[in-house]
Amino acid sequence: MARLVKKFGGTSVADIDRIQAVAQRVKRARAEGDQVAVVVSAMAGVTNQLVGYANTISPLNDPREYDVVVASGEQVTAGLLAMALQQQGVPARSWLGWQIRFRTDDAHGKARISGVDDGELERSLAAGEVPVVAGFQGVTADNRITTLGRGGSDTTAVALAAALKADECQIYTDVDGVYTTDPRIVAKARKLATITFEEMLEMASVGAKVLQTRAVELAMKYGVRMQVLSSFDESPGTFVVGEEEVVEHELVSGVTYSRDEAKISLLRVADRPGVAAGIFGPLAEASINVDMIVQNVSASGDTTDLTFTVSEADLERAVDVIRRNREDIGYGDLLFDPNVVKVSVIGVGMRSHAGIASQMFRALAERGINIQVITTSEIKVSVLIDEAYTELAVRALHTAYGLDTR
Ligand code: ADP
Ligand code: ASP
Ligand code: MG
Repeated sequence: MARLVKKFGGTSVADIDRIQAVAQRVKRARAEGDQVAVVVSAMAGVTNQLVGYANTISPLNDPREYDVVVASGEQVTAGLLAMALQQQGVPARSWLGWQIRFRTDDAHGKARISGVDDGELERSLAAGEVPVVAGFQGVTADNRITTLGRGGSDTTAVALAAALKADECQIYTDVDGVYTTDPRIVAKARKLATITFEEMLEMASVGAKVLQTRAVELAMKYGVRMQVLSSFDESPGTFVVGEEEVVEHELVSGVTYSRDEAKISLLRVADRPGVAAGIFGPLAEASINVDMIVQNVSASGDTTDLTFTVSEADLERAVDVIRRNREDIGYGDLLFDPNVVKVSVIGVGMRSHAGIASQMFRALAERGINIQVITTSEIKVSVLIDEAYTELAVRALHTAYGLDTR
C-alpha cells in the first residue's frame, strides 16, 4: 500500500465530467489499496476571471481582499470533487486552507507556507476517508486568507506530501510529463522520462509553468518524490529525481519562455552609491520581485540608465512605487513595456561546457531577433526579447541545441 498525494490542475477539473473522471481515478487507486489525499485547483479559467474582477475594481486593490476573492475558485472544486467521490461510494470530505491550517506569511498574492497542521488529515486518512484539499490557499497568523502565487496548488500538494510523508506526489495536468520545451508551441518537443530537481527548479523559475517553482524547491528540500503526468490518459509521466538517479546528461535539457515579464527603465539616474538600494528597497518592501537587472555606464559620467524586469502582474504596482519614491531616487524619465518575453536555455551540462551562450546568441541573431537584456546562472542563460518573437525564438533554440524529436 502506498500513500499518494494526487493533485489535479485546472483543465483536469474543468467541468463536471472531468471532476467525475477524477473521482473515478481516485476510486481506482483506492481499490488497488493505495491511501490517497487529493489537492485540487480551480476549474480552468476561473482564477483568471477572479483576478480580472479584482483588477477591474482597481489594479492597486487591497491584496488581502484580492486573496479572499481569488482563493474562492479552489473552494468550489474541493466541494464538488468531495461530492462526486461520495456519489461513487468513496467516503470523502473537503478541506480549505484555513481548516487544515496551511500557515503562511502575510505576503498576500504570493505567500509562503510556514507550516502545515496535518493532525486532522491523518485522522481522516486513518478513518478511510479521502481528504480533498483546496490548493493555492493558506492563512496568516492573524487569520487572513492568503494565496500562494499563480500555479500555487502544486506547492500545496508538495507541502502536503511532505507533511503526510507520502510515497509520491503526483501532479496531474493536461500534458503527460515534462518536455524539453512547451509542447504547445513546439510540436517537436521531447518528453523526458526523468529530470533532476535542479534542472526542474531552473526550468520552472524561468517560465515552464508545468510546475510552480516553490513546489520544486519544497520537493527538493524535503525529498518528496514527484511525478508529472496526464489526467487524460494512463501513460507514465516524468519523474523529478535527484542527480544521482540520472544516467545520461544532455548538455541542454530544455528551453523555456515566460511572457509574464515587464521591463522598466529609469533614465538619467544619478550615478552614485546607494541609488540601486533606493530603487530596489521600496520594491522589496512592496513584495515585488525584481528579476533581470542591467545598469549602463553613462556617457556623461554623472547619470546612468537602469533597466530591470518584474512580473507583468506587478507592473502597475512597481511603477506606482517608483513614482511615489521619485524624489528619493531622483531620475529623469520612467519607461515601461509589458510586451517582452524571457527565453531561457537550461542544462547542467553548462557547468562543464563553454559556448552554450554564444550558440544561443548566434541562433537568435540569424533570425534577426534583438536581445534587450541577458542574465546567466551556473546552469542557465536567459535573454529578454520582443514578445512577438516568442515562438520563433523558442523553436530556433530547440533546433539549435539538437533537442527536436527525430
Ligand atoms: P495545471 O492547470 O494542470 O496546473 P498548467 O497550465 O499550470 O496546468 O501547466 C501545464 C502546462 O504547462 C502545459 O499545458 C504546457 O503548455 C505548459 N508547459 C510549459 N513548459 C512545459 C514543459 N517544458 N513541459 C511540459 N509542459 C510545459
Ligand atoms: N488556480 C490557481 C491558478 O490558476 C492555482 C493553480 O492552478 O495552481 O493560478
Ligand atoms: Mg499549474
